[in-house]
Amino acid sequence: MYDVIIIGAGPAGCRTAELLAKDGKSVLVIEEHEKVGNPVQCTGLISHKLLVIHQALPKSIIQNKIKTARFFAPNGTNFSLSVKKPALVVDRVKLDKWLAEKAKKAGAKFKLKTRFLKFRQQENKIIVETNGSTFECQYLIGADGVLSNVRKQMKLDFDYHQQIFSQKTKTKTFKQEAQLSFGGEYFNWIVPVSKTKARIGGPSKEQKFKGTSGGVVRYGLIPTAQKENVFLVGDAALQVKPFSCGGVVYGQIAARCLAEAILKNKNYDDLWKKELEGSIRKGLFLCQFYTFPNWLQNLAFEIIVRTNAEKLLENLDIDFY
Ligand SMILES: Cc1cc2nc3c(=O)[nH]c(=O)nc-3n(C[C@H](O)[C@H](O)[C@H](O)COP(=O)(O)OP(=O)(O)OC[C@H]3O[C@@H](n4cnc5c(N)ncnc54)[C@H](O)[C@@H]3O)c2cc1C
Repeated sequence: MYDVIIIGAGPAGCRTAELLAKDGKSVLVIEEHEKVGNPVQCTGLISHKLLVIHQALPKSIIQNKIKTARFFAPNGTNFSLSVKKPALVVDRVKLDKWLAEKAKKAGAKFKLKTRFLKFRQQENKIIVETNGSTFECQYLIGADGVLSNVRKQMKLDFDYHQQIFSQKTKTKTFKQEAQLSFGGEYFNWIVPVSKTKARIGGPSKEQKFKGTSGGVVRYGLIPTAQKENVFLVGDAALQVKPFSCGGVVYGQIAARCLAEAILKNKNYDDLWKKELEGSIRKGLFLCQFYTFPNWLQNLAFEIIVRTNAEKLLENLDIDFY
């Protein structure tokens, strides 16, 4: 029997595995794909906080550093924001692999090519069924991403928002700024990976991503991410910034909270909500901007540009606005 079984070897699952294994827990990570990090469904634009959390982040994972973001209204009015600490554009495959290696070094075991099917509580343990074998554990963690099967089986009912995105990589000369264009139900983006390569994406009606990458993002405030000894972390718990759908940093923060809750017998919801609830609520409020008609979005941009309000936004913390 394992102390902890984690479903999903994404950034949230691997980080939780590392922290728990480091403290002596026996941890098994179950991942349905053959390789950690594949397939990629991410632009890789992550705030400098990733470097605060992981000070030893290898340089080879960082593809670019971006100080400026330019925002476009539907009519083309635009302004730019520059931050003192540049955001990182990372190689998500390498990042996920590095986090998995750290978890392995700490003692976590990985079972790849294994799909979690269901769990059931039995006296003092949880029985975890996969397409291969059955495992037992004391704690089960669903780090199985946005469409979490663990969450489905926990039967947590709540309202959330959903966006489907598609993205492709283009080669030509790109300005070294992230560009965000508004005017639809979300924004379209261009994120330069280098001077000659960028990831370009936006909302999509399709869930099929032929020749492109993409995926589903859900955001909202989940009332609880725990039921007895079963927990959710990362996208599975909708620990995602609502206004940008970025989830890597929030997932790393929540992973730390979850490890602390298990190791020190604390309440997980109290810990992660203390760090993330306020920002998720603010993000949900800001998302109302996406429901504005184009003329109102244009007007908001006009006001920002005319009053130089972008200067006030320069010290904005992009994770905790
Ligand atoms: C198009 C797009 C662009 C994005 N861009 C950014 C960005 O620029 N910056 C940012 O911060 N975030 C971005 N995100 C969000 C980011 O990708 C997620 O927030 C992040 O990957 C969440 O990490 P996680 O570990 O919670 O889940 P995931 O990374 O989704 O990992 C979940 C893991 O669980 C596994 N799994 C699922 N079900 C099972 C099962 N039944 N059995 C076994 N294994 C299972 C999956 O294979 C996967 O490996 C983007 C998302 C999309 C869709």
